[in-house]
Amino acid sequence: MTEPVLSLRDVRKSYGRHEALKGVSLELGRGEIVGLLGPNGAGKSTLFQIASGLFAPDGGEVRLFGMDYRHEASQILSRLGVVFQSRSLDLDMTVKANLRFHGNLFGLSGKALDARIAEAAALFEVTDLLDKPVRTLSGGNQRRIEIVRALINAPDLLLMDEPSVGLDPTTRKLLVKHVQQVRDQRQTSILWATHLVEEVEHADRIALIVGGGIIRTGTPAELLAAAGADNLTDAYIALTGVKPGAPAMAEAG
Ligand code: ADP
Repeated sequence: MTEPVLSLRDVRKSYGRHEALKGVSLELGRGEIVGLLGPNGAGKSTLFQIASGLFAPDGGEVRLFGMDYRHEASQILSRLGVVFQSRSLDLDMTVKANLRFHGNLFGLSGKALDARIAEAAALFEVTDLLDKPVRTLSGGNQRRIEIVRALINAPDLLLMDEPSVGLDPTTRKLLVKHVQQVRDQRQTSILWATHLVEEVEHADRIALIVGGGIIRTGTPAELLAAAGADNLTDAYIALTGVKPGAPAMAEAG
């Protein structure tokens, strides 16, 4: 088997006495779209922050492309695209200026950078927005630009933490479509954290996370079969015991 793009083994993380991740294991292969699905408070952002190298786990192993952040952080980051939950574009600059700045951080410039920007913008159908100040864009378009930005370094792995929060259903659907195109065209692996079942319906696999643990991982068809359900929302409720939109049980205590 080829090296997994992302490999988490028995990853643990506590905030004070609160165990946010209780020994999580997850692997992503090349070109795979995996939905990390769970309610608020399940530990998705914590897992995400560990996978993106923002902080180290208390225990367990984190490897990206077979490498370890402790020794090869810059090599890992050069192959990683990250879309955080909070917005982080400069509102007063144009879209293109934002993208160029980001490309410069990866050592890209000139024609090579412009080609990357043009290619990524075309994938997300935002070419006509490139010269506009970010401030003039809708929330949905700003989000699309953030994902375009995360693609400028042509990452092998794209990590997205609840990228569609605050977007209308049409824009959310468009995001799903575009992200699939990225995978289809570039064989990019994608980890998509969300609490919305419909966003992961077309993922290759879904990892269900509840109360700091991944309780099950499988293809959508496998989860349906395991739950004896005919739709993923019912399967999610049956397997996790959590109603979509409800806070995590683990948060109550
Ligand atoms: P999700 O992204 O699934 O909503 P999080 O990873 O943000 O879950 O949070 C997991 C748990 O850890 C929650 O109970 C949350 O309240 C707690 N938590 C997250 N960040 C912190 C923090 N900085 N300090 C203390 N507790 C935290």
